[in-house]
Amino acid sequence: MKDNNILVTRSSMPSLEEYVEEIKDMWDTHWLTNMGPKHKKFQEELVEYLDVANIDLMTNGHMALELSLQALNLKGEVITTPFTFASTTHAIVRNGLEPVFCDIDPVDFTMDVTKLESLITDRTCAIMPVHVYGNVCNIEEIDRIAKKYGLKVIYDAAHTFGETYKGRGIGSYGDVSCFSFHATKVFNSIEGGAVCFGNELKDFGLDLYRLKNFGIRGPETVDAVGANAKMNEFCAAMGICNLRHVNEEIEKRRNVVERYRSHLEGIAGIQLSPIQKDVKSNYAYFPVVFDEKEFGSTRNEVFDKLAQNGIGARKYFYPLTNSFDCFHGKYDLDQTPVARYISNRVLTLPLYADLALEDVDRICAIILSCNNFR
Ligand SMILES: *Cc1c(COP(=O)(O)O)cnc(C)c1O
Repeated sequence: MKDNNILVTRSSMPSLEEYVEEIKDMWDTHWLTNMGPKHKKFQEELVEYLDVANIDLMTNGHMALELSLQALNLKGEVITTPFTFASTTHAIVRNGLEPVFCDIDPVDFTMDVTKLESLITDRTCAIMPVHVYGNVCNIEEIDRIAKKYGLKVIYDAAHTFGETYKGRGIGSYGDVSCFSFHATKVFNSIEGGAVCFGNELKDFGLDLYRLKNFGIRGPETVDAVGANAKMNEFCAAMGICNLRHVNEEIEKRRNVVERYRSHLEGIAGIQLSPIQKDVKSNYAYFPVVFDEKEFGSTRNEVFDKLAQNGIGARKYFYPLTNSFDCFHGKYDLDQTPVARYISNRVLTLPLYADLALEDVDRICAIILSCNNFR
């Protein structure tokens, strides 16, 4: 039976044969986890592909963020944005740090750097901006402000796998950049993540390595309160296989995105993400912001109409992290009005390498049928 339902994403996988070939020798070595040969090989390939100085693999993107903050030994306030996945804010709070929420830019939805400096206090220790949807932050301005006040910059780069900015790997910017290789991302190792960092951060690499393995320094020495965030060999093998095909996958995503743009660009009441100068995009997401006054239908009405037709768009990112139930009443939501505006109006549309262009046509036709002013 043909299933016409379309989900918002579909995980990339190598052929079964390719994966089996990659994991075969594990039946000889019995080496399943704890930084084995697959881990080593995957890590080396990623340093090259991502064009970064150093990389450490993690069990997921969240632990990459959480352990980066811990390894930097930070205290006080971290400036971030609420227009992100739960992970960014949780990584800060779970480290005993205080998130301070900066509003977002109304065009590319990354941190609004014009509002950043006024949020800095004598307790600020770091900035954690998000390259949201693969849109690159204002790196130069964040760098300038961070240097002026002596702050660390940790990028949540979960959405930017494979991107470059001004010809350099996106993970090479900031003090630290963290990627996610979750199944739903452009590139996956089933679950997985990585921390990228430069050579200037003395001891950081070793600290991080220990923190992902319980803080164990040697057979009889445990000198940090670490976690368990090691990537296992099966995940590393999946990453090695998927890395062989990622360029092709990104190219296919580009075709899907261009098809979406051909239908939705220039429609009153529909705002699309910008095409950024100096950025090689990975086409990670296709967010659309609906202005109900000009479009004639609300985001929720479009969402429901798509759902009735078996199409799973996502309200991503809604709700904002600063309005989560677990933080009830803690943060002043009026500090981030643009984030609130976008969060109430945005939908990310289905996007994956093998999404048929005819399906994109169908999705867009349904969306445009919601436009009451055409
Ligand atoms: C996916 C994601 C994470 C967390 O990554 P996991 O690998 O799922 O733990 C962090 N930040 C953002 C913006 C994400 O989209």
